[in-house]
Amino acid sequence: MSVNQQAHTGPPYGQPQPGYQGYQQPAYGGQSLPGVPRSQYGAYNGPMPEYQQPVPPQGYFPSLGFPSKGSPVSLNSDSSSLAPNFIGSLRAPPTSGAPPPASGASHPSGHLAYSQFEHGDVQNGIPASAAPMQRPPASQPFLPGSGSTPVSQPSAFQQYGPPPASVQQLSNHMAGMTIGTATASAPPPAGLGYGPPTSVPPVSGSFSPPGSGLYTPYSATQGPPPTSVPQGLPVAQPPFPGQTVSTQRLPTQVPGFAPPPPSTGVGPSSYPPTTGAPRPPAMPGPPLPGQTLAGPPSSQPNHVTSPPPPAALAGLHPGPPMSGLHGPPPPTHPPQPGYQMQQNGSFGQVRGPQPNYGGAYPGTPNYGSPPGPPPPPKRLDPDSIPSPIQVIEDDRSNRGSEPFVTGARGQVPPLVTTNFLVKDQGNASPRYIRCTSYNIPCTSDMAKQSQVPLAAVIKPLATLPPEETLPYLVDHGESGPVRCNRCKAYMCPFMQFIEGGRRFQCCFCSCVTEVPPHYFQHLDHTGKRVDFYDRPELSLGSYEFLATVDYCKNNKFPSPPAFIFMIDVSYNAVKSGLVRLICEELKSLLDYLPREGNMEESAIRVGFVTYNKVLHFYNVKSSLAQPQMMVVSDVADMFVPLLDGFLVNVNESRTVITSLLDQIPEMFADTRETETVFAPVIQAGLEALKAAECAGKLFIFHTSLPIAEAPGKLKNRDDRKLINTDKEKTLFQPQTSFYNNLAKDCVAQGCCVDLFLFPNQYLDVATLGVVPYQTGGSIYKYAYFQLETDQDRFLNDLRRDVQKEVGFDAVMRVRTSTGIRATDFFGAFYMSNTTDVEMAGLDCDKTITVEFKHDDKLSEDSGALLQCALLYTSCAGQRRLRIHNLSLNCCTQLADLYRNCETDTLINYLAKYAYRGVLSSPVKTVRDALINQCAQILACYRKNCASPSSAGQLILPECMKLLPVYLNCVLKSDVLQPGPEVTTDDRAYIRQLVTSMDVAETNVFFYPRLLPLTKADVDSDSLPAAIRNSEERLSKGDIYLLENGLNIFVWVGVSVQQGLIQNLFGVSSFGQISNTLSALPVLENPFSKKVRSIVDMLQGQRSRYMKLIIVKQEDKLEMLFKHFLVEDKSLSGGASYVDFLCHMHKEIRQLLS
Ligand SMILES: [Zn+2]
Repeated sequence: MSVNQQAHTGPPYGQPQPGYQGYQQPAYGGQSLPGVPRSQYGAYNGPMPEYQQPVPPQGYFPSLGFPSKGSPVSLNSDSSSLAPNFIGSLRAPPTSGAPPPASGASHPSGHLAYSQFEHGDVQNGIPASAAPMQRPPASQPFLPGSGSTPVSQPSAFQQYGPPPASVQQLSNHMAGMTIGTATASAPPPAGLGYGPPTSVPPVSGSFSPPGSGLYTPYSATQGPPPTSVPQGLPVAQPPFPGQTVSTQRLPTQVPGFAPPPPSTGVGPSSYPPTTGAPRPPAMPGPPLPGQTLAGPPSSQPNHVTSPPPPAALAGLHPGPPMSGLHGPPPPTHPPQPGYQMQQNGSFGQVRGPQPNYGGAYPGTPNYGSPPGPPPPPKRLDPDSIPSPIQVIEDDRSNRGSEPFVTGARGQVPPLVTTNFLVKDQGNASPRYIRCTSYNIPCTSDMAKQSQVPLAAVIKPLATLPPEETLPYLVDHGESGPVRCNRCKAYMCPFMQFIEGGRRFQCCFCSCVTEVPPHYFQHLDHTGKRVDFYDRPELSLGSYEFLATVDYCKNNKFPSPPAFIFMIDVSYNAVKSGLVRLICEELKSLLDYLPREGNMEESAIRVGFVTYNKVLHFYNVKSSLAQPQMMVVSDVADMFVPLLDGFLVNVNESRTVITSLLDQIPEMFADTRETETVFAPVIQAGLEALKAAECAGKLFIFHTSLPIAEAPGKLKNRDDRKLINTDKEKTLFQPQTSFYNNLAKDCVAQGCCVDLFLFPNQYLDVATLGVVPYQTGGSIYKYAYFQLETDQDRFLNDLRRDVQKEVGFDAVMRVRTSTGIRATDFFGAFYMSNTTDVEMAGLDCDKTITVEFKHDDKLSEDSGALLQCALLYTSCAGQRRLRIHNLSLNCCTQLADLYRNCETDTLINYLAKYAYRGVLSSPVKTVRDALINQCAQILACYRKNCASPSSAGQLILPECMKLLPVYLNCVLKSDVLQPGPEVTTDDRAYIRQLVTSMDVAETNVFFYPRLLPLTKADVDSDSLPAAIRNSEERLSKGDIYLLENGLNIFVWVGVSVQQGLIQNLFGVSSFGQISNTLSALPVLENPFSKKVRSIVDMLQGQRSRYMKLIIVKQEDKLEMLFKHFLVEDKSLSGGASYVDFLCHMHKEIRQLLS
């Protein structure tokens, strides 16, 4: 191998490039910004437009001022001898590095030809929107691939010719790189201000005083879509006698919230039986005998409705004796069909006067009694309050067997914890979009009154189970997708064809557009096009369009993307064995780069860089006998010293690459360099992609705080003393705006950054994470990385990260029908205007949460529509549009809103909202605002939908009965209420992770899954029934598994039978179990096999490989484990579920009084 060294003599690039102006998308149309004319799309020049040779880039080679080639130096020489100031020589523009032509041929297997669409599956057509599109009569002619339909040929990939030599144009991006000049240091994208009044227009936001209206949460209502309830009929009726109701009474509230009584371990069997009802009552537990409500505590001010006499309180028994339904049988309320079970759970009382209801509650530090045992006996029976386990189990048994068919508008899908199949009949699958509510209030006033946020959690490239069909790829040829002339919405099932099919009226903006001649089709007698079932865009909720050149940057089809692996080779990285591990792994992993469909090999090119205080680039051109290294030590002005041979095809350069990967660990084996740079590494990757004129991803493996002299240099500013002060927010903010500017440049180029961190101390995740975060990338963190215990986890994460489906250079826009609009966005992306979500990369695990607000009235007849359009470049370099449509109902009765909410999605939104809030507000303010918003949501329900006669009772909407317990989990999470063991980096890391999580991930992250392994049936494939996350549910004779998406704990009780210990751990006693195991030993017995299969199954369900931690009861590590028993009081001061429920009850009553 040779190393070319050269001195960098001058600015490598020519003219500075103007700052990034945001995604130029005249062609992307849409609700364009004022003043921005929508362009007409130019003609598409056929599937393989000729590549326009770009004008030779200015200022790269000739005038570059790059040094001439230096003498090759052996790569094997001590790198330190390559003194600084060696700079790689510039080579001529690449000629061979051009992207290989995508193997033409067939379309990706992922995209089935539409002709495979099963007509028979389309049952109900699309629900009527404005004008009903009825299902054609049975005699509907079946038009398999009818004539003119271009649909069925998801044609081959565009052939991309090798980029012209001139492609290597590098533009100077330095203009955007000045340090410290930027404005705000806070990461939230412009225009998205969190929290305070400003960002949440009309309402004062959830983080504001009560009364302000945000939106309302959702609840997961199951069951048939509610029909609107007759006016005036209270929705939440008190339980009827005989009905299983979720009524419970809260036994007393004791001052100071007594800790849970020592209860004996309750096994899963202690759960209340599920009722057969579709949606079992919230509260398990036997009905209470005729009492209805619990009155407010004596200290409670009058209730508007009916202040229960104090006496009533006394009459309520706390605890166990809950039998009989309680609840004033309001015979006047006829049971609502299909909704009976949806009763709210009313919680009864409190017994005895309760002074001090209010004490210190969550926001207050030190709330809660010390771990020690305070006495008070009276408390709510945990079995009588809504159980997440029960709700999950009920949904599984009620909704897990039937496929979820998306034909009807506003259907609430099964919970994320239920396994179900989806059949797309016109609305996007819940795997792509979930909403906080599937029934939106017609007016802004209603929405504000309820405070239920209206939001959609969108995962545009979600992975589907094998049984479900991937979106079809539609190719309209040179004319591109058919769109509304005004709002640019894409053709979808809700567009209304009129005038015999010659025009169509937009379902989003009502504008009428001519149907292009090539797209014309006759209508049947119901007004539906006769090719309805042949066209995915007319009959399905999700599909893709092949994009024309108008949807490409610079009106040029993109080159296939590139992956660049950038490895920290400083002392720590080398000494820990990390460098060797990565190099070994890459040798085989490069064979698994993402491929499209049935392509033989990946179109993705790869490149390699190593770095410490300087950067080393490698020429791995296939014609070389050995790789060549070029060192760039002038990190202040980063450039790429070679073009030809840096990005290569793996198969063509395999020998050279393998040689390089063998040599890297040896080359740096004796390094003593401890300092690293970071920003220049990203800049180098960015410049390389710019030079190659392609999008791509950087995989950066980094170990320490970048303190070496260079742009983006950081200092250690960690200060735990800031916790619980007004300055705590600074811990989450980047310490310099440099990275925000760099991120902007990366997004403009489609340069996505995935960051793997291996810190042994603080390395400022909040700052290092800015670029990954804003480019749609991922961050992985392995603190105190040790080969023996962490390599499996790291390698599994790396393999998945490299192989997973990802789209590049993506822009997402969400269009809505008149009356609501997208106002706020959460996730890993960048926004340069208020409507376009830009992501240099978007993978199949990333979620974007979108909040909506009213800007006009909605109508019950037409409902509301969302259309999410994602423009992206596939891993083969094909430009595509993925479209997801969803229709929602609208209501004039609050009760309909509360019956069609989904609490899991609501929590996903609230957590993201709160986690963004900590960037700009004190954590306590954020917590208080969350509590306040949820209290308002529940109070609104209580006031408007529940029986007026039960004022003092806690009544929760059926769909939201888990809101308190889940909300409490968010409040006591590490970001909002960290325990002493949680580092600043952990908090920043978790904050970023949660921001991109989907609903299933936030669900298990905030309320972990706890499984009694010793109850598992070794002969079946099923999991043991989960139990609630509370210590009192654990038995010391059992072994449990707890998982939250990041960790798996295996907790072993002190009295577990010796035989079980032997079978699982291969040791003879509890004392011999090692708590440093990172995996369970492989033993040949049924119990060991069963447990390992459970662990494997859980690992397979998560997007990250979870760390396995063995916890022995009464061992030190148990503290860590107990942190995840989220129904209990936490050491950091988090309230127990019971206490929090009492607190919410109090808050609600205050709002109602
Ligand atoms: Zn329109």
